[in-house]
Amino acid sequence: MITHTGLEPRHEEFRDRVQAFCDDTVRPVVEEHEREGRFPLDLVDELGDAGLYGITIPEEYGGEGMDYRSFQVAVEELSRVWKIPAGVVSLSCSLVGTSLAEFGANWQREEWLRDIFTDNLVTAVSLTEPQAGSDAAALETSARRDGDELVIDGHKVWTSHGEVADFLIVVARTGDEGDHGDVSLIGISDPQSVDGLEFVRDIPCMEGDAVVESEVKYDGVRVPEENIIGEEGKGFKYIMRALDVGRIGAAAQGVGVAQGAMDASVDFADEREQFGQPIREFQGVSFKLADMAMDIQAARLMTIWAAKNLDDGNRVNKQASMAKTFATDVAMDVTTEAVQVHGSRGYSKDYPVERFMREAKGAQIYEGTNEVNRQIISDHLFE
Ligand SMILES: Cc1cc2nc3c(=O)[nH]c(=O)nc-3n(C[C@H](O)[C@H](O)[C@H](O)COP(=O)(O)OP(=O)(O)OC[C@H]3O[C@@H](n4cnc5c(N)ncnc54)[C@H](O)[C@@H]3O)c2cc1C
Repeated sequence: MITHTGLEPRHEEFRDRVQAFCDDTVRPVVEEHEREGRFPLDLVDELGDAGLYGITIPEEYGGEGMDYRSFQVAVEELSRVWKIPAGVVSLSCSLVGTSLAEFGANWQREEWLRDIFTDNLVTAVSLTEPQAGSDAAALETSARRDGDELVIDGHKVWTSHGEVADFLIVVARTGDEGDHGDVSLIGISDPQSVDGLEFVRDIPCMEGDAVVESEVKYDGVRVPEENIIGEEGKGFKYIMRALDVGRIGAAAQGVGVAQGAMDASVDFADEREQFGQPIREFQGVSFKLADMAMDIQAARLMTIWAAKNLDDGNRVNKQASMAKTFATDVAMDVTTEAVQVHGSRGYSKDYPVERFMREAKGAQIYEGTNEVNRQIISDHLFE
């Protein structure tokens, strides 16, 4: 049976569980962390203890063994309250978790994957470089062999959670061809303690000070060659597959951020009075709220559709790009209108909608910019 949201009753029960967790554990601490610019490391532990961290990771590796629609529900509901913990769940289950679970060697799954989701470790992926953003294949970070070790040299930017991560995947060239075929994923445990690996700075960004976006230098970093995840030279293929999951996570973040902004706007429009009446009675306001509700539901259904396709074992490259682009564009539109509905209060930090607007902007850029995702979608149209 499918409910009115396009999910099954078990997903709706799970949604209730995540909402209760958000109300009890996340909502009370958001403002304090944001004000103090503190990354919520403590929340990652609480997420794990509540069974909300390794949602899609097999139980044998410390995860919850749930489907991608459950992943969508959890990431959406967390983002509705605060996107930072949602981003941690999304990244760990997608770019990191999918790469290790689907392609990693047995020992990497037994050791790294199990540790991440048993001990609630924070993860990061170091792909983007100053000269290689959308054109990720232009990456220059190299990992050359020296005996049975790899020596990594390179410069990365925008490694989310890098400085606080317990496990990091760096994407580097292990060959000289200069094409997709010589890119490998390399796992690094406890990156803070590795010689030559320097977290140069936390990039100050629009989302605020609580989020961690690291610039990282790799200067002769030595790791055993067995740290290559899966097969050498297959890194690009692996990351593209993991991005399909990551884009469903980014779409769910968009839906949640938009829903959070709409919730606040509905409450505000009901309470705020001007010209002797609640502002919701002005059609100029109520039609904005109606548009928000329609757009959010469309984005949610598209994200559930992409997640269901993944649950059914289909390739979702096009669906994930569609959901990611549509939902994060909706998030930007909805949060911009939410600030407008709040008037001057929306522009202040006394209300949450300015934060939701800042969160929405980032989601249009990561996991492939929305322009790059539109390119992927249009390429599929001409296959
Ligand atoms: C909040 C945040 C978190 C991030 N987290 C991570 C992370 O954890 N790990 C990581 O490795 N990276 C991360 N990134 C980096 C992100 O993946 C890149 O920012 C993104 O790929 C775009 O690269 P760029 O910023 O260099 O922009 P550029 O590629 O320089 O793009 C600039 C503009 O040109 C457009 N453009 C470029 N190429 C095309 C094209 N072919 N067609 C149409 N338009 C195009 C883009 O859409 C954009 O509007 C993060 C970024 C942000 C903002």
